[in-house]
Amino acid sequence: MSNATQIIHSIPTDPLTGAIAVPIYQTSTFVQEAPGVNKGYDYARSGNPTRAALETIIAELEEGSVGVAFASGLAAIDAVIKLLKSGDEILAVDDIYGGAFRLFTHIYEKFGITVNYVDTTNVENVFNAVTPKTKLIWIETPTNPTLKISDIAAIAKVAKSQGCLLCVDNTFASPALQKPLTLGADIVVHSATKYLGGHSDLIAGVVVAKDKELGDKIKFIQNASGAILAPFDSWLVIRGIETLSLRVKQHCINAQAVAEYLEQHPAVDKVYYPGLKSHINHDIAKQQAKGFGGVVSFILKNDTEEAAVQFVTNTKLFKLAESLGGVKSLLCHPANMTHKSIPAEKRKDAGVADSLIRLSVGLEEVEDLLNDLEKGFDAVEKLNALIAIGQKKDFQKIGY
Ligand SMILES: *Cc1c(COP(=O)(O)O)cnc(C)c1O
Repeated sequence: MSNATQIIHSIPTDPLTGAIAVPIYQTSTFVQEAPGVNKGYDYARSGNPTRAALETIIAELEEGSVGVAFASGLAAIDAVIKLLKSGDEILAVDDIYGGAFRLFTHIYEKFGITVNYVDTTNVENVFNAVTPKTKLIWIETPTNPTLKISDIAAIAKVAKSQGCLLCVDNTFASPALQKPLTLGADIVVHSATKYLGGHSDLIAGVVVAKDKELGDKIKFIQNASGAILAPFDSWLVIRGIETLSLRVKQHCINAQAVAEYLEQHPAVDKVYYPGLKSHINHDIAKQQAKGFGGVVSFILKNDTEEAAVQFVTNTKLFKLAESLGGVKSLLCHPANMTHKSIPAEKRKDAGVADSLIRLSVGLEEVEDLLNDLEKGFDAVEKLNALIAIGQKKDFQKIGY
């Protein structure tokens, strides 16, 4: 069965009424016939039929055995880290999502869980950095925002041989393009806020475990810590998943066109998109995923924050906002926004230059998107002209 068909038909009809859409069970509790005698649900933190439908769907899509839905992507990540105990170590990708870095550093280090960061695009680095205390290897692929690709199957082999778990944050690819559990990973997490939801109208997260026993532990943590996804938001994610395959296909087409346009633009120094032949990990990206996703990042020749700010405040269709994966195109300036919580030096080491701009390429007509990007380049050109005639100071005085 094709991926698109599988995705559409992973959504069940309601066994009770035949409703083709999953009903929203907006309830906190469930009436019991006698103590402990119920219809499979007793209290909605522990289980809710709408959330359960989403959890089954996402487990099926990622080809795992247990799906668990959370109130946000970070709550999902948090639940995975709670599998660990004081003294354990995490080995994480250096180009990690800023929120995950903040959670690891400012919450879990306090509890004696330490994190080592390595460039996971090099499998040998990963192997060498594992210590006897490493219990979890954490990768994102593609990473945010430089779209680096790590070899999931090779890292899974390292994890197995060293007796630790491999968790892949699959937010950027989505199961429409990449299924880490089929490549040997133990756990997949998503910020469902992004491509799974797909419409920039909710915050949600999911975890899928390959193994039932591990999945049950995460379900236990979900109930014990309580960061569950509400029924209505579960329903919205299910509704998003119905069109996941179609949306992601078009995101990939649009992003490829945008990346190729940027690559030949005279004001651009560098483009990061795994679908470009010039991308350092193009081959492995091609091998392990069905497409290259909807996120494109680039660095301006005028590599200053000032130039980036000119760019991001002068496009009209690309709206300046954090987040990605929605129908509408967004852009952001990571140094000032998503990656602000990462120390400047660490940020630059990970390739997040001062002028780096991240695009979440949406589903608009690509011609319109390219014309819109020209507006950003015009603004940068004006700034460059002012610098050239030595009026940069005056320009700064009027603010940008
Ligand atoms: C957005 C994001 C998260 C966090 O998800 P929230 O839903 O915002 O809590 C985690 N990982 C990646 C890669 C993300 O893009």
